[in-house]
Amino acid sequence: MHNVVIVGSGCAGNTAAIYTARANLQPLVVKGREAGGQLSLTTEVENFPGFPEGINGPDLVENMKMQAERFGAVYRDGEIVEADLSKRPFRLSIEGEWIQTRTLIVASGARARWLGLPSEQRLIGHGVSSCATCDGFFYRDKKIMVVGGGDSAMEEANFLTRFGREVALVHRRDAFRASKIMLERARKNPKIEFVMNTAVDEVYDVHQNIVTGVRLRNLATGETWQRDVDGLFIAIGHIPNTAVFRGQLDLDEDGYIVSHGGARTNIKGVFHAGDVQDRVYRQAITASGAGCMAAIEVERMLEEEGH
Ligand code: NAP
Repeated sequence: MHNVVIVGSGCAGNTAAIYTARANLQPLVVKGREAGGQLSLTTEVENFPGFPEGINGPDLVENMKMQAERFGAVYRDGEIVEADLSKRPFRLSIEGEWIQTRTLIVASGARARWLGLPSEQRLIGHGVSSCATCDGFFYRDKKIMVVGGGDSAMEEANFLTRFGREVALVHRRDAFRASKIMLERARKNPKIEFVMNTAVDEVYDVHQNIVTGVRLRNLATGETWQRDVDGLFIAIGHIPNTAVFRGQLDLDEDGYIVSHGGARTNIKGVFHAGDVQDRVYRQAITASGAGCMAAIEVERMLEEEGH
């Protein structure tokens, strides 16, 4: 019987692990499909406080893990494939092996939706990014492209004009999903060029291991052409990793956990932390803060229950 199981090993899960481990609760962290979470896909992180020179994303999460292990947290590989949250203790299946826990912190995060091109996947962290806040700074005076037609794409394009020499916004249709106000703001920004009815077909150059350009395709005419680009930002939405909890945890229409105040979910003893609930901020530091909140709630609850 575990005191607390933490699902996910990104910033939220690792911070929850540090706090619950220091409270002597011997947390078990189930790493999940993407060990280390979204930071494991980035290179340099310059906005996590405490690292004046910046730190490599994978190093940052690995440091957090080592910090949690120092206080007794246990990490194991694998994914939760089934969960029974109908009564306590909760029962979780890690790829077929069932474990029991008094409390649960769901820090399984969200994954960026990608175009799915092999060249795009190869160049993530080398010019392809899903986070303008994280990586925009690296593209000072560079040529930037943003893909998407929702609020995220508008927001990222606007934000990136602070850095880039030019920002091309590529969208697959001729109408936008973005809200009027966000769209207007982008339209009024003279640095943003709209490229409509267009898809990114290929990202160059996997041989140099850095983004140098893209091949675009007009979806109405079929015409293709190449364009030089230094930074390609994919802003076509995120997918929260909550499928395994569907039907038990309150989720919104996009699958994000609905908060019931603080780090609480609709189920007593189950807490949320990080991007699995947060579609707004999505930062390493906010996820870490949320992990801390969830850990403190677990600690107080177990204390009250006399464990
Ligand atoms: P979204 O609203 O789902 O928009 C995704 C966009 O990506 C759509 O324009 C979609 O095109 C496009 N897309 C999806 N798959 C694609 C593919 N395979 N190839 C090319 N394009 C693709 O996602 P979001 O912009 O991340 O926003 C998510 C939610 O957060 C929304 O509710 C949004 O309002 C909210 N949000 C709010 C703010 C804000 O208010 N400050 C900022 C960011 C996000 P189609 O339109 O053709 O489907």
